[in-house]
Amino acid sequence: MTTNPAATGPSVRSTVHGYPRIGPDRELKRAIESYWKDAITAQELEAIAFGLREDVYARLRRAGVDEIPSNTFSYYDQVLDTAVLFDLVPERFDSPEPADGADERLRRYFALARGEQGAPPLEMTKWFDTNYHYLVPELSPSSRPRLVGDKPVREFREATEAGYHTRPVLVGPLTFLLLAKAATQAPEGWEPIGLLDDLLDAYVELLGDLRAVGATEVQLDEPILTTDEGRAAVGHLERAYRRLGEATDRPSLLVSTYFGSIGPDALRVLKDSRVEAVGLDLVTDSEGTRDLVAISGLGSTGLVAGVVDGRNVWRTDPPAAVAESGTLLALTEELRVGTSCSLLHVPIDLEVETSLAPELRATLAFAEQKTREVALLGRVLSEGADTELQGISGPKDVSFTDARVRARLDALGTDAYQRPQDRNVPLSGRLTTTTIGSFPQTSELRRARAAHRRGELPTEEYEALMRAEIDRVIALQEEIGLDVLVHGEPERNDMVQYFAERLKGYATTENGWVQSYGSRCVRPPILFGDVSRPEPMTVEWITYAQSRTDKPVKGMLTGPVTMLAWSFVRTDQPLGETARQVGLALRDEVADLERAGIRHIQVDEAALRESLPLRAAQRPRYLEWAVASFRLATSGVAPTTTIHTHMCYSEFNEIIGGIEALDADVTSVEAARSRMELVEELGGRGYGRGIGPGVYDIHSPRVPSVEEIEASLRHAVSHVDPAKLWVNPDCGLKTRGYAEVEQALRNMVEAARRVRADLSGH
Ligand code: GLN
Ligand code: ZN
Repeated sequence: MTTNPAATGPSVRSTVHGYPRIGPDRELKRAIESYWKDAITAQELEAIAFGLREDVYARLRRAGVDEIPSNTFSYYDQVLDTAVLFDLVPERFDSPEPADGADERLRRYFALARGEQGAPPLEMTKWFDTNYHYLVPELSPSSRPRLVGDKPVREFREATEAGYHTRPVLVGPLTFLLLAKAATQAPEGWEPIGLLDDLLDAYVELLGDLRAVGATEVQLDEPILTTDEGRAAVGHLERAYRRLGEATDRPSLLVSTYFGSIGPDALRVLKDSRVEAVGLDLVTDSEGTRDLVAISGLGSTGLVAGVVDGRNVWRTDPPAAVAESGTLLALTEELRVGTSCSLLHVPIDLEVETSLAPELRATLAFAEQKTREVALLGRVLSEGADTELQGISGPKDVSFTDARVRARLDALGTDAYQRPQDRNVPLSGRLTTTTIGSFPQTSELRRARAAHRRGELPTEEYEALMRAEIDRVIALQEEIGLDVLVHGEPERNDMVQYFAERLKGYATTENGWVQSYGSRCVRPPILFGDVSRPEPMTVEWITYAQSRTDKPVKGMLTGPVTMLAWSFVRTDQPLGETARQVGLALRDEVADLERAGIRHIQVDEAALRESLPLRAAQRPRYLEWAVASFRLATSGVAPTTTIHTHMCYSEFNEIIGGIEALDADVTSVEAARSRMELVEELGGRGYGRGIGPGVYDIHSPRVPSVEEIEASLRHAVSHVDPAKLWVNPDCGLKTRGYAEVEQALRNMVEAARRVRADLSGH
């Protein structure tokens, strides 16, 4: 029986940092994509968006959450919204004053995110260690931060009119500037943080505007403080919040941090500032409470205690959370309970899932359930409503272990993690062309898969359709003249989900969508138990594709780190242990592919870098298990089999050692959006393996010209050995249409041909 430490205590209000904005049925995705296709007008899109915002407020109120955030909505991304709000948009997007407000505003907004002819989009990258992506603001000394938009004010007012007094949420100035990058034209050594003072003026103006429309508290998100970079920026933090704190006529300030602890230094700065409250993530690591104790509590500064995990799907143990929150009551005069971060990262509602096993289901909570947990904690802590806790147990202690998996792993020797060093992988010559794996997922493919899933399309027919698609994709690649072919992944709904559906220990949801970037949503599976592979997962498709061509076909698998990163993962054992189980299952698949005659095998580790712990001290351990699980998956092959891997980013300074340690023969990476900066780094470092810096950006519908790709390739060959250089787009093509893909690949092959011809001329 739990005793409630706060039975007669103060009122503890509940809140969340943010809520998913996509809508319970991905209404926002559909609306935005319809707008892009001109199927609905800007006004229609805005009406749908308004309905979705109102629905969120209503849900939060129904759940009993006391304080409701606003401005957590976005048509694409909150960092982009912030850049637009403060006029921090690259010159290439400058356009004359809009004739029609809504239309022109949205057109330019989406152009920033997706590019338009003549103007490539902003770079996109992962939001901290999550699978959400934000657009990276490009700033230079000539950037002039000034308040030109009113989105937070509009959304606050709109919520007020609908009957909700909300707390506007803003990306904090420090996080915004430290996440931004210097534009290419900025002088060497200049950093966006140089704009801090000007930007603060603009924030002050915005705070005044929010106050004027009745906002009483504003949330400034500063997750950057949980990174080493942010922790090192306490001087800027101090300056920023002194300035904002001193602003007259402003709402109260809640500085929210998440994805880790911020350390005692930043905590002390915030405590000593005029900021009224601080939000801390007390789930991600256990240091938050210790830091609070270290600074002898926050005193009169309020605390929003993030005790309900905002980014994983496991239920909170209410009695434990009440006990933990109880200790916090001594560390602040004003305690609120909340989620560890925005609920943006979890699916909306568990109720709609009908096919999850009951034992598993009993351990889960999605956004809707988490808002109820937060509300319950608030009530119990303030009213001593202990009776509400009765009958609510913590997450059930169900065991999903598999003794055979554990025994197999225990029996492995170190040689299971080691490939022979004298390998003889046939590099197919200079500037070998290939793709990353997927080809466009046409609406016919999606329809067929959906029909098959519903049982309306017999398996034989479905498989015949997939084979026909593979035929088409193979023929197209041969015709375009690519060197190493792929089967196109038509049978895969998603690179993680596909495998999760075939591995034991994983569950998948029907409607558990979360936003990945822009209108793109993913459905992360749930890794709840010991993992194993009951039978081959890809062999049939790949060998079929190989049977259709004399050129080599690359087999495609998703690596252990990525399988974890894009899933909701059990927390009852170290991640490294779980990764090793996945690695072992993949090893079996790799062996089967090789046995079937496949000579190129790609194990995608798209998420290797995003999973890197935010703080350097935690990285070596992570890289150790990440590398071990990859090597476990790939080290069983013959010295003549080429192991490829693919990563969805290019800034890999911090993990280059780890990438080399994977011991893959070829690594393809994203590089187009960052203008191939990476080849310079690699060249400088004497990187010795095969490398395929993505030569064009697949996140944009824009077709790159031959000349553009050629220029990138020439840049690349001037830095890395052409014999090691592979030529590929910077990610899979599944989100694109055939028209653009065909043209882009033709241009890519032609560009490679021209550069190759030149090289052999010398
Ligand atoms: N092989 C996958 C594909 O092409 C890789 C995707 C990714 O890295 N995100 O779709
Ligand atoms: Zn990728």
